[in-house]
Amino acid sequence: MSQARSVIVSGGSRGLGAAIVQSFLDCGDRVATCSRTATPATDAWASDPGTDGRFHHELVDLADQGACESFVAGVTERFGGVDVLVNNAGVAREGVLALVRADDVDTVVDLNVKATIHLTRLVVRRMLPRGSGRVINISSVVGLSGYRGLSVYSATKAALDGFTRALARELGARGITVNSVAPGYMRTEMSHGLDEAQLEQIARRTPAGRLGEPQDVAAAVRFLASPEAAFISGHVLVVDGGLTA
Ligand code: NAP
Repeated sequence: MSQARSVIVSGGSRGLGAAIVQSFLDCGDRVATCSRTATPATDAWASDPGTDGRFHHELVDLADQGACESFVAGVTERFGGVDVLVNNAGVAREGVLALVRADDVDTVVDLNVKATIHLTRLVVRRMLPRGSGRVINISSVVGLSGYRGLSVYSATKAALDGFTRALARELGARGITVNSVAPGYMRTEMSHGLDEAQLEQIARRTPAGRLGEPQDVAAAVRFLASPEAAFISGHVLVVDGGLTA
């Protein structure tokens, strides 16, 4: 892998994805990201002379396979290949299973599992001839421990960890590592669905005594993308301040 890597981060417009984009840009890497809407963060990176053509944002609905294909093809051409794929885009819908709407089940499964697998398929095809690459899937501790009212979301995150393990076996001999980062409860828009009392309770139950920050996750992703992590594959790295220890 060359010094400056070419990185795709799905859903890098806000939250954890934005922290991951920022941390790769800070390392001098080229970063492409996609989301359905632009944000102040994507606008600022695109116009920042400091990123010097190293940042690319595209409006893509990852549920649209055709749009996904042209995004990956465009990034490959622009950056000359993809060294690191971070599958970060995800969606949660809260509600006890008996009351969950059928189309909410589809929305969560379609993005978290199907779109992630399709995007990975497109990128891995391009990593294989190069004989190197890193795939990092952002799953969740609820895929390991479950959470009341998040059964569908938990199922998709457990599926991602299974995907990680199988793909690590499939791609290990081809120089590609595949790992999951499983965050605990982070301060992002996704956790806004939880009320203050729930957030305080989670912080109290966490040995580290606080919720996670997006930078905690970005640091774990950066490590798994680094040369030091070359022998780590098929692993689920929990980043939760000890909550599920
Ligand atoms: P977030 O703030 O809701 O951001 C999600 C990102 O994904 C946004 O950039 C969003 O942009 C994009 N996205 C959503 N649907 C998309 C679609 N159909 N096509 C393209 N992009 C799409 O989420 P977050 O809290 O940062 O979470 C990031 C990841 O970490 C997710 O996989 C989540 O499951 C996981 N995670 C989060 C927490 C937490 O506490 N926050 C804990 C554990 C795991 P648009 O909406 O504009 O498309």
